Amino acid sequence: MLPFISSKMKLSDFGTMASILPATEKMPVLFLGHGNPMNAIEDNEFVQGWKTVAKTLPKPTAILCVSAHWETKGTMVTAMEKPRTIHDFGGFPKALFDVQYPAKGSPAFANETKNIITKTEVVLDQQWGLDHGCWSVIKHLYPNADVPVFQMSLDYSQTPQYHYDLAKELAALRSKGVLIVGSGNIVHNLGLMAWNKMNEPNFGFDWAIEANEKMKKFILENNHKELINYTSQGKSFDLAIPSPDHYLPLLYTLALQEEKETISIFNDKAVMGSLTMTSIKIG
Ligand code: ZN
Repeated sequence: MLPFISSKMKLSDFGTMASILPATEKMPVLFLGHGNPMNAIEDNEFVQGWKTVAKTLPKPTAILCVSAHWETKGTMVTAMEKPRTIHDFGGFPKALFDVQYPAKGSPAFANETKNIITKTEVVLDQQWGLDHGCWSVIKHLYPNADVPVFQMSLDYSQTPQYHYDLAKELAALRSKGVLIVGSGNIVHNLGLMAWNKMNEPNFGFDWAIEANEKMKKFILENNHKELINYTSQGKSFDLAIPSPDHYLPLLYTLALQEEKETISIFNDKAVMGSLTMTSIKIG
């Protein structure tokens, strides 16, 4: 909490406040495979995995989520006081549309993020909110919605290397209590989902398993170069990453790994053939 923020302050006032956001112990960084939006209201092995990892984290001052579901031209950061819960999907039960995740935003940390990024002019956004890539997982980490959450968009016009380098500029937030969460899926091909394997839990096509295993190997070897060059890794990667949106959040997480920081993998399972829920914790 920042009790000295009054509602009369203007956004421009936060520029002078940025330097007084207090230092904390360095926060871990997560990549969460979010999968089916129904995970938001179900209790399953993946939800249990998220809840378990949350218990290992210090309580964050705020959460910065880089979601697969917010692609923009340029880089934007949500800066509103009260982000709305966005139901950015169709064809799901009413119960899912009824979910509200009323976490506050963090105008102060949004501004801090804008200030520390030199690679591009970050735009402070007042329109977006929290999309399901963000709230469907964060609600299981912090069910009381008592940690402010803000999002950073993916600039769809940029290269994987650009995203990786941009993410490195976020490192200072870790020492100000910010939990940075990339949310996507490392293997994600909705066009090839195995609808006839609905009742076969954790079924993965051979190419999906191959890509998932190869990615994990690179992750555990800290071989980020090969993961940045994912378009040169052959057929299994091409099928696993038909578009970059769900993969790029992984690069944001990995870019924040510092020397000698431990990395752990959880929720490492396939669903419906062409998707894996593989998630990582750094630090
Ligand atoms: Zn998604």
